[in-house]
Amino acid sequence: MAPAAKRTITDESCMKNLPAFALLAAFLLASTGYTQAQSRNGGSAPRLDYEVRPTGLTPAFPTSHVCAPIASAWGSQERFDNSTRLQNRNGGLHGGFDISLQEGTPILAMASGKVIAKGEGGMLEGIYLWLQHAPADTSLPYRAVVKYQHLSTMPRLNPGEPVNAGQIVASSGLTGTVGRAFGPSGYPHLHVSLFVAAATEPANLKVPPPDGKLSDPLLLFLPAHADVENISTLPDPAVRVAIVEGDGRIEPAGSKVVWPVHCVTR
Ligand SMILES: [Zn+2]
Repeated sequence: MAPAAKRTITDESCMKNLPAFALLAAFLLASTGYTQAQSRNGGSAPRLDYEVRPTGLTPAFPTSHVCAPIASAWGSQERFDNSTRLQNRNGGLHGGFDISLQEGTPILAMASGKVIAKGEGGMLEGIYLWLQHAPADTSLPYRAVVKYQHLSTMPRLNPGEPVNAGQIVASSGLTGTVGRAFGPSGYPHLHVSLFVAAATEPANLKVPPPDGKLSDPLLLFLPAHADVENISTLPDPAVRVAIVEGDGRIEPAGSKVVWPVHCVTR
């Protein structure tokens, strides 16, 4: 096997394999607004493309509880409704996971940490909140920078403010989803993105973190010894996920990383 093969899982969906005319056609159609464009993240901000390597990981919730599941997984080529993502962003692969939610559902901090940014982007971004979790917050060997998107209202928390795992930090919505792929009524859901970044906090906190690697948010639940560079070699793709009940109680108690939506007892 060639040395470079390890990091080329997404090659089959890469744009470079498409004929030039197809790329031009895709661009023109996206510009007209008539297609399921994935190419805009709001205003004049440059579009960022990342390598997305599907992991096959799935959340395993406590059997005692019912939780809102993932509707479109990390690395999926499909949206929640089985429609196909266009290949002009992240190679057509999902750069996070989606949870379908009614508007106004409380969104929870997945770990303790602090707010580092909030704002409102355009199509496919909407109102967002960025939280940062130091290694001590998660017991993971990296700094985790997590983005929550499509919120219904601007979060009250401001950059620099601390958060606790399981704390309500936002309200889910459908901002940035109305029109295009999701139709005129939009798609109410939470999109979660994870950037794995250097453990040491830089003096200037930027989002996305310049050194960050876009990664499967389920990595947050993997033990510190998991080899995140060779995730497909893990013996079990089901990742045990700690949850938060409606009263704020974390199950199992003491867990540092939790599902971003309340779960209910069966
Ligand atoms: Zn998404």
